[in-house]
Amino acid sequence: MRVLIRAFAVAVLVVAALTRSEAFAAIKVVTTTEDLAALAREVGGDKVQVDALAKGYQDPHFVDPKPSFILQVSRADLLIAVGRELEIGWLPPLISSGRNAKIQPGAAGYLDASQNVKILEIPTGQITRAMGDVHPSGNPHYWLDPDNGRKIAQSIRDKLSELSPNDKAYFAQRYADFDKRLAEAQKKWDAALAPYKGTKLVTYHRSWPNFMERFGLNVIGYVEPKPGIPPSPSHTLDLIGEMKNQDVKLIVVEPYFDLKTPQAIANQVGGKVLILAPSVGGTKEASDYIQLFEYDVNLLASTLKQLTAK
Ligand SMILES: [Zn+2]
Repeated sequence: MRVLIRAFAVAVLVVAALTRSEAFAAIKVVTTTEDLAALAREVGGDKVQVDALAKGYQDPHFVDPKPSFILQVSRADLLIAVGRELEIGWLPPLISSGRNAKIQPGAAGYLDASQNVKILEIPTGQITRAMGDVHPSGNPHYWLDPDNGRKIAQSIRDKLSELSPNDKAYFAQRYADFDKRLAEAQKKWDAALAPYKGTKLVTYHRSWPNFMERFGLNVIGYVEPKPGIPPSPSHTLDLIGEMKNQDVKLIVVEPYFDLKTPQAIANQVGGKVLILAPSVGGTKEASDYIQLFEYDVNLLASTLKQLTAK
């Protein structure tokens, strides 16, 4: 019995030591989305331990906070958020429940990834409820432009260097490597979509303005009548009319929306519904930031090729 007790005590000590060494070895990073987690891993390498709260196949506006989220937030050294009110419905209560002074907005361990990126659709004039779920600080889906991904990675590099100054050179080298791989991939993506510059399409939600602007595609309407508002019969009819008028055949849908209305619209206009991944983890192929674009660009290019061949 005594031997058993001693063995148990040793085991407890070993586990405690392991947990402690792990805690010292890595900066604990929690991100709101898988895109930010992927970028944090690119830059942070083995100096960080990264967990994402929302999964890439979930609508990032509406995330059910699991009890485990509070634990993750309470233990984090760094919390990285998309900002621009994307997480306004679910992150503030988590931050207050987590009771972690390090990651409060304004503290050193809080990073709003939107600070240095290109933001589109910043509304001018007064915003009313009638406009739907409009973001007063601009469209929060900005990570879908690789140039913005690069800027997010720079912000993460600078923040990690601030939190762990001894590893500054390591983060700089990891960033430079990512930057190079991204730039090479961007040339391929630009070339793949170049033949379709100016093509008009419709998307379900306003998730894609940065993506479409980057690749020269033209979004003429949305399945949602207003951001965050489900399709309505009258808006759907208007949209079908507009698509017929302008000969628009493609409807891009995020993986977390019901396909019934988009499919009905596609049938009416003789077009096609295409599900693209708006985030890392939105489909299993989109396993990191570069693979996300690899997946979306190739799928979009092959679909546009089919549609224009008809
Ligand atoms: Zn949105």
